Amino acid sequence: MSEEEGQLEARLEEQEEFEPPEGFVSQANVTDEGIYDEFEENWPDCWTAAADLLDWDEEYDQVLDDSNPPFYEWFTGGKLNVSDNCLDRHLEERGDEVAIEWIGEPTDEDNRTFTYEELHREVNEFAAALRDLGVEEDDVVTMYMPMVPELPVAMLACARIGAPHSVVFAGFSAEALATRMNSADSEFLVTCDGYYRRGDALDHFEKANEGLDGVDHDATTVVVDRLGDEGHGHDLAENQHDYAELVADNEGAEIDPVERDAEDMLFLMYTSGTTGKPKGVKHTTAGYLAWTAWTSQAVLDIKPDDTYWCSADIGWITGHSYIVYGPLALGTTSVMYEGTPDHPERDRLWEIVEEYEVDQLYTAPTAIRAFMKWGKQFPEEHDLSSLRLLGTVGEPINPRAWKWYYQHIGNEECPVVDTWWQTETGGMMVTTLPGVKQMKPGSAGPPLPGLDVRIVDTEGEEVEPGRAGYLTVNKPWPGMLRTLYQNDERFVEEYWAEYSDVDSDDPDDWVYFPEDGAKIDEDGYITVLGRVDDVLNVSGHRLGTMEIESAIVGVEGVAEAAVVGGDHEMKGEAVYAYVILEDGFDGDEEMRSRIVEGVEDAIGPIARPEAVVFTPELPKTRSGKIMRRLLEQIANDEELGDTTTLRNPEIVKDIQQKARSDD
Ligand code: ATP
Ligand code: MG
Repeated sequence: MSEEEGQLEARLEEQEEFEPPEGFVSQANVTDEGIYDEFEENWPDCWTAAADLLDWDEEYDQVLDDSNPPFYEWFTGGKLNVSDNCLDRHLEERGDEVAIEWIGEPTDEDNRTFTYEELHREVNEFAAALRDLGVEEDDVVTMYMPMVPELPVAMLACARIGAPHSVVFAGFSAEALATRMNSADSEFLVTCDGYYRRGDALDHFEKANEGLDGVDHDATTVVVDRLGDEGHGHDLAENQHDYAELVADNEGAEIDPVERDAEDMLFLMYTSGTTGKPKGVKHTTAGYLAWTAWTSQAVLDIKPDDTYWCSADIGWITGHSYIVYGPLALGTTSVMYEGTPDHPERDRLWEIVEEYEVDQLYTAPTAIRAFMKWGKQFPEEHDLSSLRLLGTVGEPINPRAWKWYYQHIGNEECPVVDTWWQTETGGMMVTTLPGVKQMKPGSAGPPLPGLDVRIVDTEGEEVEPGRAGYLTVNKPWPGMLRTLYQNDERFVEEYWAEYSDVDSDDPDDWVYFPEDGAKIDEDGYITVLGRVDDVLNVSGHRLGTMEIESAIVGVEGVAEAAVVGGDHEMKGEAVYAYVILEDGFDGDEEMRSRIVEGVEDAIGPIARPEAVVFTPELPKTRSGKIMRRLLEQIANDEELGDTTTLRNPEIVKDIQQKARSDD
């Protein structure tokens, strides 16, 4: 590192607040700080601002109907169609502009570019095909597909004919597919033959068929041919159809978008189930689309001429909201990439950013920590100057990773939006407005305008700034889930019962509880500490695992850390730390004591790790979340639970051995 670079690193390390870069502010979609007061004063009518981003077939009568909390309804009486809003209305002005830029994993394969005109055509043809197969309005169509362009086509085709979709992440097991199809009584499945992963042509259809065996009713299946000659040569059964043939049979078909009620179901999304049995989160038409369009504009700063890239998988809510619906509602170009960031090389993302002149990149902390571990030489090989904004979502980002992203990807010229939200919230909730607010690494920021988020104790009283508490949302918002599919009771129990007076009809008595721990600072900035079960109780002190992890990752040479609580006779719980080191550092005694010191300095001796286990990897779910439950079981030397939803199950035994030998 040159001296100059060293000085820069040192300055960044100290800096706790960052102003939005001027070059960004001068062109941002939202620049008036008055929006916070304005929305508060005009609530809930402020949300006409989101509804105005949509085209309505029939105007709504009421912004919010809160007569039956927590079953809130938004924009009631209004009628619209989501596919019409994402496609048809852009045709006149932007028909020739690119809607989806699809990039396959093999570098020698041609991209598939869909203009709005082309996407519109294929969506119509497939919508006609779905009707031919017997799909009617309100039938749930399941999609079990990787990142192929036919996935957004199928989603939009369903929206066009008023059939809700339920997308099951392709990395999930056959059993997960069956459970979800059974739960939703879904009689239609769209899937594909296979896909590429790090150079291998994976067989997906076999898994889909295995899943279908577990479905307790008949299901009509459509199969996309992704692999062509490299496919695995499966035959189609009688009720299984080839996607391309169906589309060809319906060449030139035009299907009128069905007028949907504002509150009609748009889709179901089963949460990943890392905290229990999967829940069928129900999102509806108007509120969801208004929310994703508004946040895409205000937070991601999307403009129609942008090339915007969210590197999530469409199998997660992030991909639904911020690859498909929000960006397409705004008429922009949305990039979709099939592969992983490290194939064929660790600079693949940067190569794509350079080649397509990407304006905004929205990714996850787990990816950013991997980039950091690999080193800055990979982004440095590429011209990333097209980037204007960076975003992160999925879990807390520690200040060191935030700063690395800001410096080495954004060249200190792009604001970083750290966006807190969940499957259930439909879209972003807590984050800075990038053209307005200062950024504080490690803190997501204030709640978006029009949201009432409070950090409370177990009694529901607001906690002092700096103290850990529970995040709650005290007013409804348009993008919220409406219920859990066919299970209103569980909906109330899971999300409301904790802090609400469940017998009351007064909306003021209802509080939404996302089950995340958080703290707030004097400026109203919220630091999310993780799920409630990620908060440790050490000798009566409540410590967020995130805070301790952040302290550990602040130690030079540490790439990533996970902290869990292990039972401890004296303390109640003790801190167990699992640590991944950067390339070139050793997990020796010196490193161990530097880590312990780092935690003591940052938080205090109370948080001193009882054990530090060095490991090359951490057990992660397929969405990239650390599975702390397993690490906890290892710390307590308990029997390990289910490891089938892990991306890297093999690492578990390895960690277990290391932990035992350290005892
Ligand atoms: P399940 O609910 O089935 O266990 P999940 O919670 O992992 O699955 P998601 O809805 O995708 O499924 O994740 C939302 C959760 O991710 C939030 O509740 C929060 O814990 C975490 N999260 C998301 N974004 C952020 C962020 N910017 N900062 C901190 N935590 C975040
Ligand atoms: Mg969750």
